[in-house]
Amino acid sequence: MKNLLKLQALDLKIEKFRLREIEIPKQKSKFNIHKKRLEDELNASESRCKNLVLEQRECEGDITQKQEEIKRKDGQLLAVKKNEEYQALLHEMEMLKKQISAKEERIIAIMLDLDEAKSCHEEDKKRIGAEQAEIEAECAKIDEELSVAVAERKALEAKRAPLIADIDPGMLSKYERIRKSKKTGPALVPLQGESCSGCFMSITAQNVNEILAGDKFMPCHHCGRLVYYAPKFDDMAVEAVEGGR
Ligand SMILES: [Zn+2]
Repeated sequence: MKNLLKLQALDLKIEKFRLREIEIPKQKSKFNIHKKRLEDELNASESRCKNLVLEQRECEGDITQKQEEIKRKDGQLLAVKKNEEYQALLHEMEMLKKQISAKEERIIAIMLDLDEAKSCHEEDKKRIGAEQAEIEAECAKIDEELSVAVAERKALEAKRAPLIADIDPGMLSKYERIRKSKKTGPALVPLQGESCSGCFMSITAQNVNEILAGDKFMPCHHCGRLVYYAPKFDDMAVEAVEGGR
């Protein structure tokens, strides 16, 4: 019976490690969200620069095109016979010139914006790069913490076999069954007054007597856990309870 309590103390420790193994990677998902946000931020500042460069090129292309159009119309002027056609061409050329100077103004504004956007982007790169490096370091720490937890859990699991060898197979399978059905927490619980300390329901007087009388584990009729009298297992009981924390 003592060995079964020892096994439970060990299993509860293993369970704690398993829970840590689930919890540890969750910390990383927070960092992954942060990482994604930084990437988005950097991409946004980069595309601001790219868009300005694109717009500048578009304006320049537009200007070239309009200048060619003006040249073409200038050539047509000589061939035109009617005065109103001549005036119309002049008017069109004038319009094109106005459009060109509007584009030129836009280019100057773009160049100013681009200077600012580029220096912002450089600063963003530095700041975000530093933040990303910090996050990478934190993630590496988490990975390390996880691998340590896995190694510790495996070391604990290796201790099960020698313990199990000394446990009555019938009791062992009862214990395993309860553990499986409860998913977490102890399968063996100390008697508390006249109640099961697993579910806090009272235990029949007859069972209480049996529990108190011998080093027997009696099932609780409410939760199915095996109830024992802690003082009978003195030091072991303490260990089992500690393992559950
Ligand atoms: Zn119970």
